[in-house]
Amino acid sequence: MMECAVVTPTVLDEVLALLASAGEDAIPVAGGTWVTLTLRHGLIRPRLLVNLRRVPDLRHVAIEPTGDLLIGAVITHRMLERSPIVRSHSPVLVETLAEVANVRVREQATLVGNLCEADPASDPPTVLAALGASVELLSLRGRRCVPVADFVTGAYQTVRAPDELVTAIRVPPLPPRAGAAYLKVRTRSHEDRPALGVAAVVLLDDGGRVATIELVVGAAGDRPQRVPSVLEQARGHPLNEALMTMLASAYAGTVDTVSDLRASAWYRREMVRVFATRVLRLAAQRAGLHCEPEGSGNA
Ligand SMILES: Cc1cc2nc3c(=O)[nH]c(=O)nc-3n(C[C@H](O)[C@H](O)[C@H](O)COP(=O)(O)OP(=O)(O)OC[C@H]3O[C@@H](n4cnc5c(N)ncnc54)[C@H](O)[C@@H]3O)c2cc1C
Repeated sequence: MMECAVVTPTVLDEVLALLASAGEDAIPVAGGTWVTLTLRHGLIRPRLLVNLRRVPDLRHVAIEPTGDLLIGAVITHRMLERSPIVRSHSPVLVETLAEVANVRVREQATLVGNLCEADPASDPPTVLAALGASVELLSLRGRRCVPVADFVTGAYQTVRAPDELVTAIRVPPLPPRAGAAYLKVRTRSHEDRPALGVAAVVLLDDGGRVATIELVVGAAGDRPQRVPSVLEQARGHPLNEALMTMLASAYAGTVDTVSDLRASAWYRREMVRVFATRVLRLAAQRAGLHCEPEGSGNA
């Protein structure tokens, strides 16, 4: 492993100054689960590791006056799973995090670290994109907020500049008559990363028709994928089996899928068809819609 210095600032301004002066030679470290592995394998060669864990300004989980849930950059998966605030605000996020790795990893790894590493085989970015969450970035140049759906630009690639720190993730509340769900497909072990992840958020109008719908497919290609032109077709229609099957088939025919150790591109495509229908059905039930059980044949 190449030698590099570790600094542990205790104030945010010091972190920003370090990132600004060192540029690509410095990387922030939150839980360190990904940084440790990639350093050990020589995949990254930073000169400076900036440990974020002692910065109090990054250690918050709070509901804003707007109703948004704000999750600070050093908050681990496990802290979120246990937080009563998160459980009542975004239960689907808690469900998703409980599917990540194992308890040992979740005690150490942060949600922001998960998003920043941008590994295509990840769970939280898919559900965060479906929930309309955004990423708060701060540097000496200023502050900006980027939707999670735009934050990841490819495998291990994000829009973050080297001098920028992600300070928090912002998750908006679900309106009444909305339901959200996430389903994960594993092909190797119970603790494995996803071969596929599908998230849905359904908002119904007073007549039980679709007001808005979000469907995001993760771990199929190099980033979470949504297909706005397909989702637009659902607006104003009753969310029945026929509509869910149509949306799932359209997604299966549109999203990029890759072949790797976890699954072939063909298998992923077929599973998009199956799991998109299932996740839409679950989200619809959570939005208060009665759905026929799978296989009843009532389209
Ligand atoms: C055995 C194992 C199993 C796993 N299984 C799953 C799984 O099933 N599903 C899943 O989704 N993930 C899985 N993971 C991935 C894990 O969830 C992530 O590696 C973890 O969340 C990264 O968080 P961290 O805090 O350790 O990040 P770190 O290792 O500290 O950082 C990761 C990256 O993010 C950058 N970074 C961190 N914080 C910031 C910040 N505030 N601003 C800017 N950049 C930042 C770092 O510079 C680095 O590039 C698994 C990991 C392991 C080791």
